This record gives sequence, C-alpha cells and structure tokens, in this order.
Amino acid sequence: MTFSRPFRSLFIFVLSLSTFAIIANAQIKPGRDPNQPIDQEYTNKIREYTTAPYFNSPLTDYLPASTDIPTPKAVLGDVACAPGKLPYAEDVYKYMRMLERASPRVKVFSIGTTEEGREMIAVAIASEQLISKMEENRARLTKLADPRTINMNEAEADALVNASFPVYYITGTIHSPETGSPTALMELAYRLVVDNSPYVKSIRDSVLTLITPVVEVDGRNRMVDVYNWHLAHPNQNWPGLVYWGHYVAHDNNRDAIGLSLKLTRNVMNTYLAWKPQVLHDLHESVPYLYDNTIGDGPYNAWVDPILTDEWQMIGWNNVSEMTKFGMPGVFAHGNFDTWSPGYLMFIAATHNGISRLYETFGNAGADTVERTLSPSEYQRTWYRQNPPLPKAKWSQRNNNNYQQTALLTSLYYFGNNSKLFLKNFYLKSKRSIDKPKQEGPAAYVLPGDDPRPGNQAELLRTLQAQGVELSKATAPFTVSLRKKAGSAAPARPAASPSASPSPAPKTEDRTFPAGSYIVRMDQPYSRIADALLDYQYWAPNDPQTDIYDDTAWTMGELGNVEVVRVVDAKVLTAPMDRVTGEVRSPGGITNAGAVYVINHNADNALVTLRYRLKDVEMEAAEEPFEAAGRKFNRGSFIVRKANDEDLRRVANELGIQVYAVADAPSVKMHPLRAPRIAMMHTWLSTQDEGWYRVGLDQLQVPFAYISTQDVSREPNLKSKYDVILFAPVGRGAQTIINGLPMYGNPLPWKKTTLTPNLGGIDETDDMRPGLGWSGLQNLQKFVKDGGLFITVDDTSDFAVNYGFTAGVSVNRSQRLRAVGAILRTKPVDAASPIAYGYGDSLAMYCMNGPIFNINNGVGGRGGRPAPRATGRGTPDDPDVPQGRPPAEIPDPPARVEPWEAPPVTDEQLRNAIGLIPPNQRPRVILRYADSRDLFVSGLLDGGDEIAQRAAIIDVPSGNGHVLLFSTNPFWRGQTKGSYFLVFNAILSWDNLNAGRKLAEK
Ligand SMILES: [Zn+2]
Repeated sequence: MTFSRPFRSLFIFVLSLSTFAIIANAQIKPGRDPNQPIDQEYTNKIREYTTAPYFNSPLTDYLPASTDIPTPKAVLGDVACAPGKLPYAEDVYKYMRMLERASPRVKVFSIGTTEEGREMIAVAIASEQLISKMEENRARLTKLADPRTINMNEAEADALVNASFPVYYITGTIHSPETGSPTALMELAYRLVVDNSPYVKSIRDSVLTLITPVVEVDGRNRMVDVYNWHLAHPNQNWPGLVYWGHYVAHDNNRDAIGLSLKLTRNVMNTYLAWKPQVLHDLHESVPYLYDNTIGDGPYNAWVDPILTDEWQMIGWNNVSEMTKFGMPGVFAHGNFDTWSPGYLMFIAATHNGISRLYETFGNAGADTVERTLSPSEYQRTWYRQNPPLPKAKWSQRNNNNYQQTALLTSLYYFGNNSKLFLKNFYLKSKRSIDKPKQEGPAAYVLPGDDPRPGNQAELLRTLQAQGVELSKATAPFTVSLRKKAGSAAPARPAASPSASPSPAPKTEDRTFPAGSYIVRMDQPYSRIADALLDYQYWAPNDPQTDIYDDTAWTMGELGNVEVVRVVDAKVLTAPMDRVTGEVRSPGGITNAGAVYVINHNADNALVTLRYRLKDVEMEAAEEPFEAAGRKFNRGSFIVRKANDEDLRRVANELGIQVYAVADAPSVKMHPLRAPRIAMMHTWLSTQDEGWYRVGLDQLQVPFAYISTQDVSREPNLKSKYDVILFAPVGRGAQTIINGLPMYGNPLPWKKTTLTPNLGGIDETDDMRPGLGWSGLQNLQKFVKDGGLFITVDDTSDFAVNYGFTAGVSVNRSQRLRAVGAILRTKPVDAASPIAYGYGDSLAMYCMNGPIFNINNGVGGRGGRPAPRATGRGTPDDPDVPQGRPPAEIPDPPARVEPWEAPPVTDEQLRNAIGLIPPNQRPRVILRYADSRDLFVSGLLDGGDEIAQRAAIIDVPSGNGHVLLFSTNPFWRGQTKGSYFLVFNAILSWDNLNAGRKLAEK
C-alpha cells in the first residue's frame, strides 16, 4: 500500500497517538482508590441488588464516600436502580441540581420543553478547571467545527486541538419502556464528581461529560405511572404503554430527518451549540450489552469513512475492556444496519461527530425477575464469543452496572485519546467543506420558479434546523448538469455492469432564475444536506435481508419540491447572498378587485388558510382558468366575500399569494368547506397515527380525537363528524374489531392520583375492547349517511375486508419488497378534487402497501385476462378441438389496464344483481407508475407486482365515500408533498364526485 505524502504523515500521526494511548491504558488500573473511603451502606446495597458478582465490575461495585456531595439516595431513598424504584423526570432533575449546588464540577442547563411543557435538561460534568474553561473551550471547538474560520490552517488546527478538551454527550431513555438509564446516569454523575480513583479522575480531567438523563420526558412520566400502577396492583396485568410522547412512541428515534418532535429539536440545538464529539444514546433491549454503534451493513453512504473507523475503535475497546472484567454478553455487531440517518444518535454522524448507541438488558420497570433467553440470544457467534447466559435472575441494578461500566470505559478511552478524536473532529469538518472538490456534489439547487414555494420553504426550514447554511441567487445563473435518462426517474444502474467502459455522461446546460436557493456543499454541515437531498439505492441482492428501517428518505421527492444535484463547481460562483433568518415563501394580495383567487399548487399552507378563515366562504374551480394574466390550476380557491385586511394578514403570514380580480372566472365550482374531522385511534397502537396528528397540528387543522371504543358507542357519527381519518394501525383487521383479549383484569388508561400523567391525550377505563361489530356498523352507517372515511395501508385492508368498498379487493404480495421506499405514482383521474394541485407524477412513501384489484361487480377479483391454455399452435394461435369444425371465437375483451376494472360483460348484465351502478363504482385517482418508472429511491424488488396498480381509490358508498391509500401520505414528517391528497379529500368531502365521468353501462 502506498500513501501520498499528506496521507502518510496522517497515518503516522494516528499510529503514534494510539500507541501512546495503549501505554497510558496500561498504566492505570480500573478500580477504587484505596485511600478514599467508600459509602459502605450504599456499596452493600449495590452488591445486594446485583444478582451475581460477574454482573458487576471493579468500576461500579462500590461507591466512594463524600462528606458534602449527596448520593442518589438523597432523592431516591435507596441506591440508583434499586428494585421497585422508578423516579419521575423531575426527581432526576432535582438530584442533578442538588449536585450542581454541592459541587463546582457540575452545571445544569435547561435545553427546552416537550410538547406537553415538561423541561429537558443537559448536565455538564468535569473537573473544576475544565468547567471554568468551558466557554473558552466551546469557542475553540466552534472553530474546529468550522475550519473556514481558521482558513483551513493545519497548524492553527493542531494548536486548537492541543488546547482543547472534548465533549461527550450522553442521552438517556428516549424509549420510555427502556427505563434504567436515568438512574444509571444519576449515579454516573455522582461518580464523575466524587471518585478519586486514577481511572475516574483521568476522565474528569480530560473530558467534559454532557448528560441529558431523560430525552422523552412525557413518555418517562407515563411509564413511571404505569409502573406505579403495577406496584399497587401486584397480581394483575398492567396496561401497556400505548402512548409514549405526545405524538409517537418508538418512532421518536426516527425523527432526525424530519425534526418534527421537540425532543429532537432540543437535542439537535444542544448538539449544535456545544459541538460535542460524540452523541451516545442509551437503549435497552437485547442481553446484556450490545454496542450497536458498529452494527451491520450496509452503512449509510454519506458519512465520512473516518467516522466508521472511529465506530470500530471505540466499540471494540468497549467489548474488550468489559470482557476483561469478566462480564458476559458484551458484543458489537448484531442486528442493526446503519443505513438510515433518522436515529437521534445520527445527529452526530451527519454533523461530523461520532454516533453511538448501547442496547443493554432492561426489565421494562424495576422488578427483579428470572429471564430466560432464546437460543438466538444466548448462542455463541463470531462476533459474540462470550454470549449472555441462557437463564439468569436479572435486576435493574445489573442493567445499571452494565450501562455505567460501559460508559466509564468509553469515557476513559475517549479521554486518553482525546487529541486523536479532536483532530478527527476537525478533519471530518474540513472534509465536509472540501466536498465540492472531492466527492461532490458542489451544491443542490432549489429553483426559484418551483410551483410550490410554500413546500419548498418548508423543506428549506428543515435544513436550517439541521444547521445547514442556505444561499439565494441574486441573478440568474447557468450550470452544466448531467443529462437525464429518458424517464423522469433517476437513472438506475444496470443489473450487471457491462464489460466495456461506458461513454462519458452527456451534459446539458440549465439556467436557474434569480431567487433560486443554493445549498452549497463547501460548508461544515454539507454532509447532512447531501444525505437528505440525495437519492438512495438499496440493491435487491444486498446480503442484508433483515432490513432495520426505511430504505429511502429523499426529501425533495417526498416534499414534491424540485431539488437539483449540481456537480459543476461553477454553481459556487453564481451571484448569491447568504440567507439570514428562516426561509418564508412570499405571500400577500396582488392587484385589487372584489374577488380573490389563489392558485392550487398543493402547498400545505392552503389548508391552514381554509381553517384559519373557516367562516369565509370559499369555492374550488373544477377546471383550470386564466385570470389576472396568469394560469390557475384546477382546484384553485375562489373567495368572493372576505375581509381584505384579514385575508392579507393571513396570506402574508402563511406565505400564500392571493390575486384580486374584478370577476370570478366562469368555470364550474363547488364549495370548499372546513369540515369537522375526527382522527380515530385504537387502544392497540398509536405509533403511526401520531405522525398524522403531528402534521395536522403543525398546519393548525382542528380535529376531534376519538377511539374505536367511542365509535362502537356512537350510532350517529355523522351528526358529529364529516370526515373520519383512520391512520395505519399495524395489527391486522380482525384485531381492530376484537381489541385486546378480554382475559384477566381491566386495563385502565386514565388520569388518577396514582397515575397523574396518563390520560390527557385520551382516556379509557379499559384498553381491551376494540371497535367491535357495533363500531363496524356505526362506521358503515357513517359512510352511508354521507361521511368520508379515509384509510391507509392496513386500515385500507380493514375497509376492503369488512365490506366498505364494493368493487375493490386486495391481493397478497408474493415477491414485492418496497421497504420504506419511495415509488412513483401517476394520476388516473386528474379531474377528481383529490388530485387538485398535483402534476403528472408524484413520489410517495410505500411500505409494501396493499395491491388493489378493481371490479365493476361485487365480489369480483378483477385482474388480467387468463393467458391461453395448453394446445396446438403458437402462443397467439387458437387451439383447435379435433374431429369437428372450428367454433367461432368471440372478440377478446378490450385491453384492461391493471388499475382499471374489466369492462362489464353481457353475462353480468343479464341479471345484474352484483353489478355496481356506475356512480357507485370505485374511482381510481392515482396509480403506481409502470415498472420501468416505478422506482424513485430506496429498495424496490418485485416491483412488477404493484406497478400500474391503483394506489389511491375513491370508493362511493351510499351518500358517502371511502378513500383508500396503498401508499402512506403522512409518514414521520417527511412526506409533506403528499399531505394535500388528504387535505383535498377533506376540503371537498361533500363534492368528491366533481369531474367524474360515468360509464354508460
Ligand atoms: Zn430503544
């Protein structure tokens, strides 16, 4: 192997530092300082609550005593992670603030509040000396984080590295049933402050440890309530944690792309302000400690290779040190690919830091119990040579010992190698700035003439919240782009590379108008912008078959906003200004006149406008028209009577362009109302529907929040609601009807003095009953009475299987793998109000959505005509029965597209009992694109199974409608480009037949 000169010197530098570290490691023995007295009572309890000596380490099997610093017992009444003790977040904070008052080595900072107003904190711990230099250190780290500030000067960088100490940021209990980390972090804080052993002192003197002990504060307090309920009802089943945070459960750890949740924003802002080198998130699931940082492939394609090497270094050190302590079941690798950037810890990976994550073994509460593992958990494998025990008594204290021991070994290793990691931090930042000169691209451009300026601004604000700098062109500019392949979809690599070298890619020039946004890649946080704006390709033959999460997240496509990847470095010389302040689309009223018109471009702000001015009459134009010298799309808003001032103010605020004209256009219109919406949830899972609530709340669309149990009790739903939205549940159609099994005791979810944090979002005396048959009947009556019922993915399955949708059936997929992928859809009936504002193609999120068949008869299966049977001749020839004259073959049925119903036959018309009247037949609004155009981003395998099938169907039923989605329009705050399909349906809920052409027979 040969290295160019700068690489060789770097290599030697790295090598010498790690050699030094190994020597330093050998000099300090982990364990207590014999000259420092221990807190004997506390130490005895640690030993009592630890179920076997090998579940502890010399780092945590004692607690040093202090005369003036309180131990966690001061708040908990027992040692950290004692059986039966689970503190609320406020008690954890109370202890951290006691430490702050007692020691100059601790500072506590408020980092924001949750959706429900609870505080989040960060606790900084280091020696007095480091704490006193915290701010000047932060100034140095800020320079290392942005090497432009020191003109990329290596000597200056080295001087900064030498003068600086690193920040290691630890976050606890983002996942509420994973309960051990807050108390483990309380005790860790105490040790870092008090322990005088050379090992811990070395950490304190070399690293600033930053701790957010509770990330999901709302969920933590609900979990403590459930645990306390369990303690008070010792022989009963306890309610499952159906709500964690205000909106979502486990998916709160998938929000680092869309940044919809306050906890993500608060940790992101803390990360951006403190410039830590590590973000280390604590989880509990598999035994006993899985350092899942290294994980498994495929790795995220946009992170710096320096980072992936750091994962290996720190992760293997962790495994090695704990194995030497004799602790079983510590391993790296395992089941977790590192592809998606949606995890909280990935804030560091995509911002030049180091992302880390532990899975330790929790008992979901503070009970000590016998745990029996499955063979896959206790068997030895190549990466787990010292596996967990098949069976062991396990306590919360054991989990604490593992978490603290692992963190202490990591902090020690990090402190010992702090200069190496600080230099890496600088190098990763520098290499992010060098992106245009190295791997590219030079920039992404969001054109100034995008038809959806509101959604464009929304996407850009998300990038700003990620710390990305934006620029805006002050004049038109021209760059050279790679010529697109024939289709609108990005070029897909051929299945097998051809032997001969491919010809140079053809380029074409494109001129972007002034006002275009430019996301320059010569900035320190270029990596996150590149990762979010680029396309993803997961090969169908990838050896990783156990895919951990979504395979695609391309923000421009999901936002229905054009984003152009520009490799041509000329883009960086275009005349432009740095954007200061949040990006807003321009809004207001142009011209003067009695009638106001607003182009329907599917910008989400339009629904906010409708509800903000809910008493103002508005109409939708059913055809495109021209007015004020401009073209207006089908669906554009016509407002005849509005207070000019109110409309101007709201349009300004929402970034909506309103045009005043003298007369309304002479096209057909229907009222656009602000109907009464209900979101229906189950008591089985509220995970996916939470993303719908986030979207509706952000856009200020009011809704009632009802459960399947409410629906089972309300025979006249139509008197209360116009639209019922039933987001995916993920538990199957029968379970929606049945609910939880009725064995055992009722499972209450409500606010009581014992459980003050339950309820609030919704309440029930017993979570077990489901929708039931009465609920099903009430829902069906709601639709017959004229209501609109919107279903998605598995709730579409539910609607089809329980008879809401005559003429629609669902096929089980055999080969399809669209795993959190982005697929292209095409309009079939652009005159439907549901398609208003959309163009000739829309990319949508799909997770193996149902494959619909359409039929004009009840009970028909639809599908393609049967291929010819075995017989004489070629495939196109007719077969000929022998020994009689050939019979006349009737004309073959007209060719039917996979999204269409086969035409009505004479046989069906003879006694048309099952024939659906033309005005009650399913109306397909969007379909999946043809096979060759279907793929947009992520993993798509077996796509021909779903290609061309209906993706969104409006099914009339009685006086109402059922709207079926195979794709998911509301997902993780990432799919803002498809929200308006739902909003269109809502706003035109009583005019969905607009623009419909009926069949003759
Ligand atoms: Zn977790």
